[in-house]
Amino acid sequence: MSLEHKTDVVVVGGGFSGLAAAYELAKQGIGVTVLEAESELGGLASAFEVGGEKLDRFYHHWFTNDQHIMELIKELGQGERISINPTNTGMYYANNFFKLSTPWDLLNFTPLSFFDRIRLGLLALRARRVKHWAALENKTAAEWLRELGGEKVYQVVWEPLLKGKFGPVAEQISAVWFWNKLKLRGGSRGKGGEERLAYYKGGFIALAETLAAQIRQLGGKIVTDVRVTSVRPVGDSWSISTCRGDVSAQQVIVTTALPLAAEMVEDWASPEYAARLRRIQYLANVCLVLEMKHSLSSTYWLNVNDPDFPFVGLIEHTNFESTASYGGRHIVYLSKYLPHTDALYAMGASELYKYALPYLQRMFPDFDPDWVIKAHLWKARWSQPVVEKKYSELIAGLQSPRPGFHLCSMAQIYPEDRGTNYAVREGRALGRSIAKQFGEGVN
Ligand SMILES: Cc1cc2nc3c(=O)[nH]c(=O)nc-3n(C[C@H](O)[C@H](O)[C@H](O)COP(=O)(O)OP(=O)(O)OC[C@H]3O[C@@H](n4cnc5c(N)ncnc54)[C@H](O)[C@@H]3O)c2cc1C
Repeated sequence: MSLEHKTDVVVVGGGFSGLAAAYELAKQGIGVTVLEAESELGGLASAFEVGGEKLDRFYHHWFTNDQHIMELIKELGQGERISINPTNTGMYYANNFFKLSTPWDLLNFTPLSFFDRIRLGLLALRARRVKHWAALENKTAAEWLRELGGEKVYQVVWEPLLKGKFGPVAEQISAVWFWNKLKLRGGSRGKGGEERLAYYKGGFIALAETLAAQIRQLGGKIVTDVRVTSVRPVGDSWSISTCRGDVSAQQVIVTTALPLAAEMVEDWASPEYAARLRRIQYLANVCLVLEMKHSLSSTYWLNVNDPDFPFVGLIEHTNFESTASYGGRHIVYLSKYLPHTDALYAMGASELYKYALPYLQRMFPDFDPDWVIKAHLWKARWSQPVVEKKYSELIAGLQSPRPGFHLCSMAQIYPEDRGTNYAVREGRALGRSIAKQFGEGVN
């Protein structure tokens, strides 16, 4: 089916950034068309079906201080779908499990000496006291964490996490990225110091679908299964080429990963601009999702601080959201960040499951493969921008190379890290600013 079509604004990508921008434009009466390459909306927050219910392909939650997404949900009249639950965090280290949810757990963390446990506790407090991230721009996370907590704390707690999350680029990660993580997690706690996280009934996809329904109701258009191949200026407007024909628009917003945006603009943008877009590195992610008859443990979020183990995190989603939502099944995500060239990234679901089994059995000696009803595998090539030292200089040149062309990508929300909360914040802000230009007669 051909798509030949004319609109005010085209949004490339139907993830949370694109939908938030389109919602704001449609609200202001601007003609907007969202073009999404996949058959599902939601991007990294899209879903699949388990027990008749939608489940996020990649584990998702919000922190209680994620104000932008909370505001949007309330504006859409969906506040009652937010559930806030206490969660627990643990660590698997040297073949043992440790609870790490509250300050008391920290005091009982025996892999560290008592002195180092105190240093670890103080580290989090000292990190949160940093108000100006710019002061950390010239440091790597490894340098900063060693400075704050000492070598032993770094080796036991932080180094395995950094390596698990960033693999070969772990040593390049900026202190700013880590500071943000500590700040966010620390701010999402109840009075007893326990972590509290938020979820959305029906999964994050349910929110994306509500947003999409609103956009359509306000006159916006959303088309799936349409891959954009190039975005070119034609006179004062833009021609967006897709696998199903061209769309013309006054303005265009690209929400994909930056190297994909580079491919779309390379016919006309300067080589320097395209090179800047390609300069940001991204890691891929694989998530093996197990539907199970039994629970593996009582921990929601288990950091795997064992460099031999092929996954950095084991997230038992149904220790957060009830099994009743998934036909009584227990849901466990095994997550691994890796370069897309890694052999593990090429594996299929059954191959990766077989590969993971001995590690699971070592970790949980009672675990029986018969517990597993089904194993699903999800992969995302562009899952995590690598936030390097002096990142602000790497993304500094991303201002539009030509009026009417806008980028709105998760690589640009620095000093924050990716997340739907910031996708919504940035998408809405850009949508509002473009709508204002239309109001002022500037296309
Ligand atoms: C493992 C994992 C765990 C996460 N956990 C959380 C969490 O707990 N909480 C949280 O808030 N966030 C979490 N996130 C991050 C969150 O999912 C993202 O930050 C957010 O969804 C980004 O939205 P986006 O719209 O900017 O990008 P994306 O979701 O990547 O959307 C971009 C869209 O563009 C489309 N696209 C690409 N190329 C083209 C093309 N040529 N033509 C048309 N369309 C195209 C893609 O298909 C995609 O739908 C997690 C991410 C991962 C990978």
